[in-house]
Amino acid sequence: MTTPEPASDEFVPFTARLMAAMRAQETNRPDRLFSDPFAAMLAGEEAVAMMRQRLSDNDLAYVAVRTRFFDDFLLSSPAGQVVLLAAGMDTRAFRLPWNRTVTCYELDQPAVLNYKNALLSEMTPTCQRHTIGADLTQPWMPLLLDRGYRPESPSIWLIEGLLMYLSDLDMRKLLHTVSDLAAPGSRLGLDVVNSLSLDYAPYKGYFRSGVDEPESLLAEYGWDAVAVQPGDEAVNYSRYQQQFPPRDVPGVQRAFLVTAERR
Ligand code: SAM
Repeated sequence: MTTPEPASDEFVPFTARLMAAMRAQETNRPDRLFSDPFAAMLAGEEAVAMMRQRLSDNDLAYVAVRTRFFDDFLLSSPAGQVVLLAAGMDTRAFRLPWNRTVTCYELDQPAVLNYKNALLSEMTPTCQRHTIGADLTQPWMPLLLDRGYRPESPSIWLIEGLLMYLSDLDMRKLLHTVSDLAAPGSRLGLDVVNSLSLDYAPYKGYFRSGVDEPESLLAEYGWDAVAVQPGDEAVNYSRYQQQFPPRDVPGVQRAFLVTAERR
C-alpha cells in the first residue's frame, strides 16, 4: 500500500518529520554517526513509511553525514547564542552536551514547533531553549530580538535543509537578515543544492533554489565560507559511498555542506 501524499502545501513542513525518520534510522545502526533518541517519536509512522517508499540509502547517508557534520560544527564553535533556522524536528537543544550558558533559539513555522513542543514537553533541554514560531519569508528579526538575542555578541547559526525550499529572492532576504544579526566572528552552517538538483526526484517540484558557488554567494553577505561535498574525505565518515566528481566537472547534481565565518 502506498502512503498518502501530504497536500502540496503540507509537504515542506512534513519534511521535518521525514528528516527525523532518517535520524531515527541512523540511531538504530550499531555504527551510528550520532544518537537522536527523540527522532522516532517525532517522526511518527507516516514519515517512516514515506522514508521507506521514497528515499534511497544514499538519501539516508546524506542526512546522517549532514547531521554529524553540523553536530561537530556546533560543538566546535563556542558561542553563548545558537540560532537554528527552520529547526523542524532538530533535537540538538536536548541531545548536544551544552549547558545553561548556551541559549538556543529555534525558529520554524508555528504548527511545526507546536507539534514538536507537545511531544517533548516532558524533556529537559541541555541549554536555555526558546522556540519562535515564524514564517522565515516574512520579517522575523524583531521576534528574535524580543526573546533576548544580542546582535552585538557573536553567535552561531544553522540553516539546515531550508534554503532549497525558498525562492531565490527569499533565500537572499534571509541571508541578508542573518548577516545583519551576526556580529563579526559569528559562525554559520548551512546546506544547499546546486541548480541542477532542482530536478532531484524525491523533492522535485518543492526544491526552488539552487546555489552553484556557495562561497561566492556568502561572500556577497560578508562571510568567508568553505563548501564541501558529502563523500569528500573530511565529510565521509566512512558512510557516504558516492564520490562527487571535482567541482569543475559540469552536469552533476550536487549538494554542499557549508561553514562560514562573519567578517
Ligand atoms: N532543519 C531541520 C532538519 O534538518 O531536520 C528541518 C529541515 S526540513 C527539510 C525543512 C523545514 O523548513 C521544515 O521544518 C519547514 O517547516 C521549514 N520551513 C520551510 N519554509 C519555511 C518558512 N517559510 N518559514 C519557516 N520555516 C520554514
